[in-house]
Amino acid sequence: MAKSLADIRAELGECRRCSLCDTRTTVVFGVGNHDAEVMFIGEAPGKQEDLGAEPFIGAAGKYLNELLQLAGLTREEIYIANVLKCRPPENRDPQPAEIEICSPFLREQVRAIAPQIIVTLGNFATRFILRTDRGITGLRGQIQITGPFSVLPIFHPAAAIYDRLKQPLMEQDFRLLGRLIETRRFEKNNVDKTTLCEEQP
Ligand code: SF4
Repeated sequence: MAKSLADIRAELGECRRCSLCDTRTTVVFGVGNHDAEVMFIGEAPGKQEDLGAEPFIGAAGKYLNELLQLAGLTREEIYIANVLKCRPPENRDPQPAEIEICSPFLREQVRAIAPQIIVTLGNFATRFILRTDRGITGLRGQIQITGPFSVLPIFHPAAAIYDRLKQPLMEQDFRLLGRLIETRRFEKNNVDKTTLCEEQP
């Protein structure tokens, strides 16, 4: 049985399981709707997130909020977490050992929320969720099925802020996300109706 988010957070505590605890300000657990249809997974907290104890509250977060509208979503409807819960110094890339130590908490969060759709933002989240070595450039905008989840890899919003050529692709991918949500809702409704019919005496 899946643990509750509150239990997972309590277990994480003021974690000192890897050396990032020495340089972080706060543990950034995750935020949002506990029953979200769509879960977003990023890489690690940045400077603003480290200070504010919440994922995606800096410039990348503002941009993400704008993009969500293209998918017909609000920030309140989704859940967001990162692969790493603590900021790497100077926003360097996560190291494999850090991902290995920290990622069990993300796995527990995914189990607790049980979303229909997972959106992976950038290379590290995509490689972790899809268990692949392929990069985000080749995978973005391609819906993958893994277990019960539809997974949509998308560039990290921070990457698209720095490289404006990525922004039309981001918009395209968020519109695709909107269509994917409608499809999953349609399928779920039909399954529910079929189940109801089968249960009729
Ligand atoms: S990154 Fe994860 S494992 Fe490392 S100290 Fe932070 S919460 Fe603990």
